[in-house]
Order: sequence, then structure tokens, then C-alpha cells
Amino acid sequence: MIIRYERNGKVKHGWMVEEDHKVRVIEGDIYKVQTAKPIMTGLELPLDEISLKAPCDPSKVVCIGLNYRDHAAEMGIELPKEPLMFLKPSTTVVGPGEPIVYPKLTENLHYEGELAIVIKKEAKRVKASEADHYILGFTCAIDVTARDLQMSDGQWTRAKGFDTFCPLGPAIAPKLDYANLRIVTRVNGEVRQDASTEQLIFTIPQLVEAVSAVMTLRPGDVILTGTPSGVGELKIGDEISVTIEGIGTLTTHVVGEE
Ligand code: MG
Repeated sequence: MIIRYERNGKVKHGWMVEEDHKVRVIEGDIYKVQTAKPIMTGLELPLDEISLKAPCDPSKVVCIGLNYRDHAAEMGIELPKEPLMFLKPSTTVVGPGEPIVYPKLTENLHYEGELAIVIKKEAKRVKASEADHYILGFTCAIDVTARDLQMSDGQWTRAKGFDTFCPLGPAIAPKLDYANLRIVTRVNGEVRQDASTEQLIFTIPQLVEAVSAVMTLRPGDVILTGTPSGVGELKIGDEISVTIEGIGTLTTHVVGEE
């Protein structure tokens, strides 16, 4: 699985083999597989010598709202006829272990565990049938939401856009049978969301088609595919994790704003 890490002030990609807890160093640009192949250097680093970053550095994070029937029902909102899109700025992205900062402007912070698509190459008006060629892989995400601001503002820029509101990681799984993956969100070890991507209203290829019909997706851009039912509140001090079959577990915690 692909990770991004920092060591001695430099950020690089690596390949993590879960069983041996080591990272193999990759030199070169993992997004330029056609022109200049990234090189597996053979150099290995122990995980405790590196600091994991978010596995990609997106120019934008496109999110899909209400893409699971049961979540639309719990929000009391009608099912969308087309994918409902909104954006999170790139400044929302944090890596594994970097905390979610609870803003002073909200009194109702929610988690939404989600499967995230990472784009491999520039995608503009891509057909669903071609979508797989534009996907680098998949990672875990939390669409952190200030639910009170989402309801009061009428649109979602503030509610979804605070710094640290998009934890991503721990790794990108390049090959995944994404049609039926179990996704589980836990808060302080207690299961809060437990669903399958089988329940997605709009599928992964349909989402790539719908989003790339509007905006050009760049290498490393991310699409959050929506959250299942069971969303709920986060408090300062909570630990939250999202586990997706075939990817691993993204774990972070909530701290107060300084
Ligand atoms: Mg969401």
C-alpha cells in the first residue's frame, strides 16, 4: 500500500507492507507512471523512524453528500436524484494521528466515516466505464462536520471547511474490489457506523463520471463517497477511527482550539 511520509524534513512516498511494519522507499512521482516510472529503491525504513502524512496532497477534496439511503433517512432529507457535491478546501487535510481541532465557532461537531477515492491522472469528462483507469486507489477519510453551522448556513462551506476537517489515511490501497467493502467507524472503541459500500446510491465509477463532468480532477485529488448512517457527536478528548476492509484503520483524536 502507498503511504506518504516525512523523514529528515523531506516528504516522500513509500510502499508499506503491513506484516513487516517496514516502509520501502519510492523515488520519483507516483502519479507519472506512464512517463517516468517511480522506482522502488529497495531501501527499507522502520515505521518508527518516519512520520506518516496524509497519503496524498490534493488540490481539492470533492465530497458527495447523502450517498447512503440510511444516512439520508436519519438526516430526514430526500434522496438526491444526482450526486450532491460540495468541496472541502485542501487545508482541511491532515494525516493519521494529526488531531481534529474542535473550532470555537461550533457547538455540535460530527464525524462521518467515508471511503475516499484518490485520483491517479488528470480526469476531465471521464465516462463511468473508463473511471478505473483514473483511480490510483482508495483510502479512509473522516468528513468532519460542524452540524449546527451546516443547518444554519444553508450551504456547507463553513460547516465542512475548517482546518483539520479531513483526516485521510493511513495508506492508499491501489487495487480494491470496491463494490462491497465493510466500513466501520468507532468512537472511543465503540462501533458507531458499520456498513458496506454495497449500499452506495451512486457507485464509484458513477461518481468519477459525475464529478469530472463538472471540474477537472488532478493527480492526488480526492473524492469522498459519502457516509452511512450512525453519524454523531465528537467531544474534545475523543478518539475516532475508521476501518475499511482492504485498506486499514485511520485513527485520530479531537483537541480543543488554542
Ligand atoms: Mg460526508
